[in-house]
Amino acid sequence: MKIGIDLGTTNSLVSCYGEAGPRIIPNRLGENLTPSVVSIDEEGTVYVGRTAQERCVTHPETTATLFKRSMGTDKEFQLGNKTFRAEELSSFVLRALKEDAESFLGCPVTEAIISVPAYFNDIQRKATKKAGELAGLHVERIINEPTAAAIAYGLHDREEHTKFLIFDLGGGTFDISVLEKYGTIMEVRAIAGDNFIGGEDFTKVLYGMMLHKNNIKEEDLSQKELLRLLRQAEQCKLGFSKSNESAVKFTVGETTYETCFSLAEYEENCQLLLAKIRKPIERSLKDANVRLSDIDEIVLVGGATRLPVVRSFAARIFGRIPSADIDPDETVAVGAAIQCAMKERKEEVREIVLTEVCPFTLGTSVVTQRMGDLIEGGHFMPIIERNTVIPVSRTETFCTAANQQRKINVEILQGESRMAKNNLLLGEVTVPVPPRPAGEESIDVTYTYDINSILEVQVKVNSTGVSRKVIIQKEGSQLTEEEARRRMEELNYLKIHPRDQEENKLLLARGERLYEEATGELRQEIDFLISDFEAVLKKQDKGKIEQKAKEVKEALDEMERAMEEELLDF
Ligand code: AMP
Repeated sequence: MKIGIDLGTTNSLVSCYGEAGPRIIPNRLGENLTPSVVSIDEEGTVYVGRTAQERCVTHPETTATLFKRSMGTDKEFQLGNKTFRAEELSSFVLRALKEDAESFLGCPVTEAIISVPAYFNDIQRKATKKAGELAGLHVERIINEPTAAAIAYGLHDREEHTKFLIFDLGGGTFDISVLEKYGTIMEVRAIAGDNFIGGEDFTKVLYGMMLHKNNIKEEDLSQKELLRLLRQAEQCKLGFSKSNESAVKFTVGETTYETCFSLAEYEENCQLLLAKIRKPIERSLKDANVRLSDIDEIVLVGGATRLPVVRSFAARIFGRIPSADIDPDETVAVGAAIQCAMKERKEEVREIVLTEVCPFTLGTSVVTQRMGDLIEGGHFMPIIERNTVIPVSRTETFCTAANQQRKINVEILQGESRMAKNNLLLGEVTVPVPPRPAGEESIDVTYTYDINSILEVQVKVNSTGVSRKVIIQKEGSQLTEEEARRRMEELNYLKIHPRDQEENKLLLARGERLYEEATGELRQEIDFLISDFEAVLKKQDKGKIEQKAKEVKEALDEMERAMEEELLDF
C-alpha cells in the first residue's frame, strides 16, 4: 500500500487513496494534523506531534520545531545530549505517520509519495528522500506541494479548460504555481516561491509587536520565556481569524503584560512581509506568459492563508475572492493521495496526465571572452532554464580555454544570478583532457532532470570518449554509506512512544505546560490532578486509567478555557 505524505514545516499529514477516493488518515490521537515537532525524554523515548508540541514550552532543550527549514543543511539540533540533523528529525515524524497509517489500514506500509515545496533545491529534495529511507519508507516520488494541490483541485474542478494559480503559504514556505488544465491534462506552466516566508514569520511580527509595545528587549528574555511568548503570539495571531482585535497576556520575569492589537495595526506591521510575497507572484505569471486577467481561479492552500491579512492581500492583488473549497490544510495531502493512485494506475485517475516543470535554472560556470582578449571567469551559463517542462535532458558543448589545458572542471550550479558565485553549488566534476591548443578539446555536458526533480550530470570528453556521471553531492554535507548505516542503526534504537499510550502522555505533557502557564491556586489544582493521574497510571488498571484520563481531560479543558476567558475579559 502506498501512502501520500505532506511533510510540513509546522504540521504533517498522511493520506491514502481508498475505495471512496482520497482520504486523510487520522493519527494516533484521531486528528488529521500531526505537528512537525520532535521531543525526547530522559529515557530516550521520542515524542512526535502534539505531545512533543506541549513539551516545547516545558522542555525546550529537548524539543525541536521548524526543522524542515534546515533540510539538507549541516545544521545540527541539540536535543539533550544527542544531536540530530533535520532529515533525522523529519524521519521521526515520518515514522510516526507510517505507524499511524499501518494501524489505520491494517497492513504494512513501505512506499510513500512525499510532497516538498516547489522551491526546494536538489539537496533539500535528496534530504527528504533520505528522511523517508531512515523511516523505513521507499520514497517512490517526490512531488511539488503546489502541484499536489493542483491535482486535488483539478480532480475537483468540473470545467474543461481552466487556468489557475495556486497560492500556497504554509508554516515556513511560500509557493506559487500557475497551471493550465485541458480536460484530463494538467500542465504546470510556472513555479516560483520563497523558502523563507511562512506563517511563522507572521507570528514573529506579532511577537515583535508584543515586545515593542511593552518596551521589552529580546535579549532580556530567557529561552523559555522567548518560546512561551512565541507560542502566545501564535495564539494571538489565530485570534484574528475570529475578530478584528486580538488580545494577549504574558509574563516576563515578575511582570505580567496585557496587550490588545487591532487587525489594522497588525496589517500595517505585516507590509514588509506582504511585499516579499508579491515578487514570486509576478515572476510566476511572467514565466508562464500569462496575464493576471487570464487566470480563471485563485486557490489558497496552506494554513497561513487562513490569516485575514493574507486573504485580503490575495483578494486585493488578484481582484477577486480566492477559492478554498478543500480544507487548505489538507489540499496537499489529498493531492499526494491522488498521485499514489495515479502511480498505481487506478481506474478513476488513469486518464489524468500531469506535466511538471523545473522550478529553477540549472547550469555551470564558464569563462567568457569579451572584446578581443579580455577573458573573464565565473560567469553562469544556464543549461536547463527555469520552468522548462520535465523530464528534460539537455547537452551543451564546452571547449578548453587555455593552451595545454590538462583537465576541465565542471561546476554544477543552481540559481538565477548572472555570476556563478552567487548561485548554489550542487557539485563538481573534473575530467582529464589531452593537452592541446586552447579551443581544440571539447566536452559534452548533459544535464538530466527527472520527474522527481532530481538532477544527474554526465560529462564526456569528445576526443577520448572518457565519460563521468555525477551523483550530486555537496562536499561535507552528506554522510558516507558506512556512516549512514551506523546512523540509521542509532536512530532505530530510539523508540517512538507507543501509540496506545499517547493520549495519556499528551495529558501529562499538557498538564505540565498549563502548570507553567498558570499561577496561584490553579497551579496547585493542576499539580494535584497530574500527581493523581500518575498514581493511577502506575497501577496499570485499564478501566481505571480510562476513567481517570477522561476526568483529567475534562478538568484541563475547563482550566484552559478559564485561562483564555480571563485573558479576553481584561
Ligand atoms: P501548514 O504548514 O500549511 O500547516 O501551515 C501552518 C501555518 O498556518 C502556521 O504558521 C499557523 O500559524 C498558520 N495557521 C493555521 N491556522 C491559522 C489561522 N486560523 N489563522 C492564521 N494562521 C493560521
